Parts: sequence; structure tokens; C-alpha cells
Amino acid sequence: MKNKLDTIKETFKNDFANADNLNKVKKLEIQYLGKKSELYLFSRSIGSIKDIEEKKIIGKEINILKTEIKNLLKEKSIQYDKQDIKNSIKHDFDITYPVFPKNNGSIHPVKMIQQQLETIFTGMGFSIVNGPEMETDYYNFQALNIPEHHPARDTQDTFWLDNDMLLRTQTSNCQVRAMEKFGAPLKIIAPGKCFRYESMDASHETSFYQMEGLLIDRNISIRHLIGTMKVLLKEIFERDVDIRLRPGYFPFVEPGFELDIKCLICGGKGCKTCKNSGYLELLPCGMVHPNVFKMSKIDPDLYNGFAFGLGLTRLAMMKFNIHDIRYFNSGDLRFLKQFR
Ligand SMILES: [Zn+2]
Repeated sequence: MKNKLDTIKETFKNDFANADNLNKVKKLEIQYLGKKSELYLFSRSIGSIKDIEEKKIIGKEINILKTEIKNLLKEKSIQYDKQDIKNSIKHDFDITYPVFPKNNGSIHPVKMIQQQLETIFTGMGFSIVNGPEMETDYYNFQALNIPEHHPARDTQDTFWLDNDMLLRTQTSNCQVRAMEKFGAPLKIIAPGKCFRYESMDASHETSFYQMEGLLIDRNISIRHLIGTMKVLLKEIFERDVDIRLRPGYFPFVEPGFELDIKCLICGGKGCKTCKNSGYLELLPCGMVHPNVFKMSKIDPDLYNGFAFGLGLTRLAMMKFNIHDIRYFNSGDLRFLKQFR
């Protein structure tokens, strides 16, 4: 009986010495400790030994050998486990391995301009507001002092929807909603997408981006408007920009202006881009019409303010020297990849 154990011990010793990886160690575990192992079967067979003392001794030796095998296998298995992890790190996670650049997307040029403007205006204390793109006639026109049948409606070709609503032609709807919600004083900008029913060419698109701004407080004058616009243009074009105001008619402001900037290409001497005038038309602005205040329950005797509208798409065209507006919505990667 004792010989049997010695044989098992001897065979295990050889097999154990040859187990040079985790798989082989696991196999030995089944081979020597499993229910079909020689040792297990042997331990079951000692029941037939009549001498109780002998039975006890052999039983004890079987258990000692079992524990010994178990411990040796466990130790080796941990050792190989660690080795495997080390190897996998060596092969899969080489920190010195060069990283191939991923094909990441980039920010759309209009969005770039929008983010830049948002930073400038929030720096001056303005809040950013949003509004719906599908709007009612009231918020898009009436509340902005453009009643039904007003000729100013003709200047904004509108997409009318079957449900009597429309796709907003300007982001001014956000201004009206903000005035209703927050009252005065108020400092907001409203960037977003607008829609016009237009035939498309190099300078016209059916959907484009605008950003309107509104400041309402006591004793606001045109000087505040000019000052704010100068800061804005200096930040955008990264240099001092000369501006001029021309009278302009917009029903929601009084007085209303067209703000022009001195042509950045010819410096005011006259060129093809500015049609030899030396100036480029940039944005409509003006002092908010008292009727607009009244519609939104703000007292025009206490408060006044200025409003302006910036074409984000047009600004992006000027900043990046893009001659055709249709590139922006084209989804053409050759165009978009230039703005990384
Ligand atoms: Zn010019």
C-alpha cells in the first residue's frame, strides 16, 4: 500500500517538473486530485483494510500527499498566472508603441464662429438662450412689430407648414420668449438655425445660422451698441475694425441701422469684394422699438435697449474666405477637413 503512494508521488514529481505552463498545471490538478485520479481511487479502496491502525496511517499519508500536491499546484499556478499577465502586458500594452492618429471629426466652421461669439458675449455678461425652430406667426412676426399683411414680411420668404406654423426666419423668436420669461433688465444672445424659402446660389441657402443679441436696461444708448459691436468685431477678426452706421429699416427697431465694416481685404480703398465701396454690409441693428417692449409687457418709459442680428454663416464666409455658401451644408469631407 505504502508503495502505491510512493509511485504516485514519484510520477507526480516528474509530471510537475515538466508542467511548464498554466494549462499543464491545470491538467495535473485533474489528473492527480480529480475524482478519476489514482490517488482518489486509492483513498476509496482503503476501506477494505481490516487493520484499523494501518488504515489510519495510510489514510493520514494519503491526506498529507493530497495536501502536498494541492499546495505545489496552487503555488505554480499563481506563478504562471502572474507570468501570463506580465507577458500579455508586454505584447498588448507597450506604452512606447506609437499611437496612430484616429480619424476624428472636426468642428464645423459655423459652429466654431458660434462658440467664439458665445465666449465673447458670455464674457460681457450675456446669457445664451434657445428657442424652437418650428414657430408660431406671433413669435416670428407679430411680437416683433410685424403685423399680418405688413410689407416687411415679403423680405423674409417663409416656409409655412400645414399646421399653421412656420420655420423661423430669424432667431428673434428667442428674444420675445426671453423677454416674456425674464422681463427687464436682460442681456441675451440667441444663436441658431433659421430657414428661408429661397432659391439657392453662391450666397443664398434655405437654412443658415444666425445669432441675435438683445440688451435691455435703463439709459441705454447707441454708444453702448457701437461699443459692444466694436469689441465683438475686434475679437472675431483679431484686429481693430472700422465701422459705420447707415440708417436701415427694420420694424422691430427705431432707429434702425445697417452696420458696415471697412473692407478687410482692401482696407477701404475699394475692391471686387466690397464692390469698390470700401465697406461691407455686416449686420442690422438698432434701438428696440417701444411696441416690441409693450408686446412683451416691458415698460418702454422705464427701459430701452439695443438689438442686433449677426449672420453666423456669413461671418464664417468672411473669416475663412469661403466664396460659396453651399459648401457649409454639403457634407463634403474635403471641405470640412480643412477646419481642424
Ligand atoms: Zn474692399
